[in-house]
Amino acid sequence: MDCIFCKIVSGEIPSVKVYEDDRVLAFMDINPINEGHLLIIPKAHAATIHEIAEGDFLAVMSATRKLSAAVKKTLNPDGINLLQLNGKAANQVVPHLHVHIVPRWFGDGLTISQWEMVAGNMEKIKAIAEKIQREIVN
Ligand code: AMP
Ligand code: ZN
Repeated sequence: MDCIFCKIVSGEIPSVKVYEDDRVLAFMDINPINEGHLLIIPKAHAATIHEIAEGDFLAVMSATRKLSAAVKKTLNPDGINLLQLNGKAANQVVPHLHVHIVPRWFGDGLTISQWEMVAGNMEKIKAIAEKIQREIVN
């Protein structure tokens, strides 16, 4: 398959690896938006949250927790953003699921995760909540 992250898993494309287990690989982002920016991916190809097997997703999140602790020890950031984008409308560029770990420092100037607080219409909010609730599959 012509997937850049699958090629990183197979070793066809080089990467700076920081963690690996049977399901997961983590490597440094080559266009870091802050020092320590890294990516965690499942080894089995899955484009988004909608395709990934639950076990692989849990393994990715477990590794994300482990790596966040290692990043905190290493770089002592003031905070960490976890980002995981699904689909072009969400600005996903590489269609192989990945979690970004982005270490943050006060005054680093990054604008990710900043949005304006505008109060919503409570009736609309409740109506959407009810619709979503009805579609939850356990
Ligand atoms: P997105 O799909 O928008 O969540 O972001 C894709 C991320 O993958 C970007 O931050 C890129 O810098 C990163 N990226 C793309 N190609 C490589 C590569 N060969 N090695 C490491 N990171 C990459
Ligand atoms: Zn892939």
